[in-house]
Amino acid sequence: MAFSLPHLPKARSRLYTRLDGYLRILWESLTGHRLKGEEDLAKWVEALCGQIGSPYGVDMPMARVGIYAAVQALIRPGQKVALSPYTIADVINMVVCAGGVPLFVDIDRATCNIDPSALEEALRRHPDVGAVLVTHFYGLACDMPRIQEICRNRGVPLIEDAAQAFGTRLAGRSVGSFGDVGIFSFGLYKGVNTFYGGLLVTPHRGLYERVREQRREWPWQPQGAFLGLVAKAVVTDVLTHPLLYGMFTFYLFRYAYQRKIAWLNKHLSFDIDPQLKTVLPEGYAVRYTPLQARLGLAQLPGVAADLAARVRTAQRYHRGLQDIGELILPPWREDGSHGYSYYPVQYEDREALVSFALSRGVDLAESHHKNCAALPCFAPYAGECPSAARTARSLIYLPTYPGYDVQEVERVIRVIRAFFGRA
Ligand SMILES: *Cc1c(COP(=O)(O)O)cnc(C)c1O
Repeated sequence: MAFSLPHLPKARSRLYTRLDGYLRILWESLTGHRLKGEEDLAKWVEALCGQIGSPYGVDMPMARVGIYAAVQALIRPGQKVALSPYTIADVINMVVCAGGVPLFVDIDRATCNIDPSALEEALRRHPDVGAVLVTHFYGLACDMPRIQEICRNRGVPLIEDAAQAFGTRLAGRSVGSFGDVGIFSFGLYKGVNTFYGGLLVTPHRGLYERVREQRREWPWQPQGAFLGLVAKAVVTDVLTHPLLYGMFTFYLFRYAYQRKIAWLNKHLSFDIDPQLKTVLPEGYAVRYTPLQARLGLAQLPGVAADLAARVRTAQRYHRGLQDIGELILPPWREDGSHGYSYYPVQYEDREALVSFALSRGVDLAESHHKNCAALPCFAPYAGECPSAARTARSLIYLPTYPGYDVQEVERVIRVIRAFFGRA
């Protein structure tokens, strides 16, 4: 007689952490090695620049601090910075902290990225724009040749937020190497996780030297703050471990979502109550440590395989869902330009779909990203961005992390098809 275990729901997302990383942190923290071996920092930045194909790079404590440094280096105080409102609130804050005035430009709903035509129009109407910041959201590359041309025609410098796009390439070039500055993130929730961290790359020697000098004055990140982040990652790893998640955490999350338990949902989301920041918060301007560089170096060899796994998963979603007209799917690209950190789909009544999936044991989540152009805290910069508003209301993440196996992906597709009454 066949015996099969009941299906255990799999987590909507997991961290890209590794046991060897945790062991290294434990060892180096106990022996006081964390800040030793500064040559590893240089090795890390060199390896990244080699992979990205950029002549100059500076390690950053977080990607957002890189955005701050880039805006500060490229604009005069009070100039506008054109950018997509569909991003984390702190990116907007960094523009403000660096002396810029956010100018929100609407997105294209399919890609969730800035709409090049809208950008062209915005630059025509606002000749005082000092820089353009584009985001390769969900690792889906923007149309860089077109955006480069638009910026070049106006003589406006271009910054790429490639926080989610490390490893992706467009037209033979690494995403993040098209602009005057490219920014990458190695934060807690990213594909290379060094418990926060970032990189600024640029083809301009002068800009590089300026940012590097500025960064030299920052103190090392205190060990307590670093270990606090590591502890947070450990808790997340335990709660999303397949056994614990399938038997406990999933049901807790589902209960919180379906019963709208505010305090629990608050812990499951991000950017709950964004605030305007006008000065760089304390603790942001710290130095990336040699330990973090060593953690990163150990992960680099796995980046290409992880990317390939996510692209295969995206292809399954694309094939399985493309005939459902009620959904907006991201573009399907297999040329390596789309890294699919998630597979973002949009549906007007997303709560009904997420609820249905949860009731069938499939863990999906609503996107937590907001239309920053309509947030009360950014009222001084408010703008009409109807596409960003609708995307922010209707986006759902389908999981793509490398451990999310084929059976699980097929289960997601079946449940979504059942919701829409398709066989
Ligand atoms: C994660 C993320 C950031 C911020 O990265 P940090 O390293 O946490 O500062 C910025 N932009 C996008 C698109 C991101 O996904």
